[in-house]
Amino acid sequence: MTNNAIIEVTNMRKSFGKLEVLKDVSFRIAPSEVVAVIGPSGSGKSTMLRSLAHLEEVNGGSIRIGNEELVHNGVYPSGGKIKEITSRMGMVFQHFNLFPHLTVRANLELAPKLMKKYSAEEIRSKASSLLEKVGLQDKGDVYPSNLSGGQKQRVAIARALMMSPEIMLFDEPTSALDPELTGEVLQVMRQLADEQMTMIVVTHEMSFAREVADRVMFMADGEFIESGTPEQLFGSPQHERTKAFLNRVL
Ligand code: ADP
Ligand code: MG
Repeated sequence: MTNNAIIEVTNMRKSFGKLEVLKDVSFRIAPSEVVAVIGPSGSGKSTMLRSLAHLEEVNGGSIRIGNEELVHNGVYPSGGKIKEITSRMGMVFQHFNLFPHLTVRANLELAPKLMKKYSAEEIRSKASSLLEKVGLQDKGDVYPSNLSGGQKQRVAIARALMMSPEIMLFDEPTSALDPELTGEVLQVMRQLADEQMTMIVVTHEMSFAREVADRVMFMADGEFIESGTPEQLFGSPQHERTKAFLNRVL
């Protein structure tokens, strides 16, 4: 895993003004690995994911995706390089972030049409098959406001898959959902994991982390405190902060 990591983050630092949100964060993710990131609110989990997807720019450190560096020692490449790298990742947010004025199908087709990566026909058929994959084949012409939260999040996942990403980043994908709707979203994520998608999932769903993740990373105060298999992290956490957190959430 050390040599073939698909994501390698080295000494990543990020501040908002004087607030140091990520302090020297380093980790590697292997291809097809499913990593759950857990930790208290405000610990920097979203900022970490957003930095990977270049929704935030870090102040220092390096992020390598495959063989390409999104940022090297705090310096970003110019030109189309960044888009090319970030298009290899799909991101799903807590609040879905669907375009409300577009139908479900148009939500899926927008980015690939803008990127001109596929023909119109390919885009249409890809959208159809992804809607089917998430169990929403009959919702293509519906607007997001007419969907349940669970359906919206499944649309968001299908939309993120349209660009054929190698990596999927999930930021608390079920936190905004009524409990009875989380299952249908977790089911789609479980299927992606089974299909060998590389995934980083920030989540409060400890049962999902336990069942689906290959590795669980615990983050607190802008640092990764420890990581291990679900058995290791949940069964015998090493750090006091991890123990205290797990005592509160389990
Ligand atoms: P988490 O996802 O673990 O709850 P976040 O990454 O969202 O944590 O936030 C970490 C810290 O950074 C928090 O203190 C938050 O208030 C702060 N923060 C996040 N985004 C911004 C921003 N755009 N501007 C200023 N502060 C921010
Ligand atoms: Mg967050």
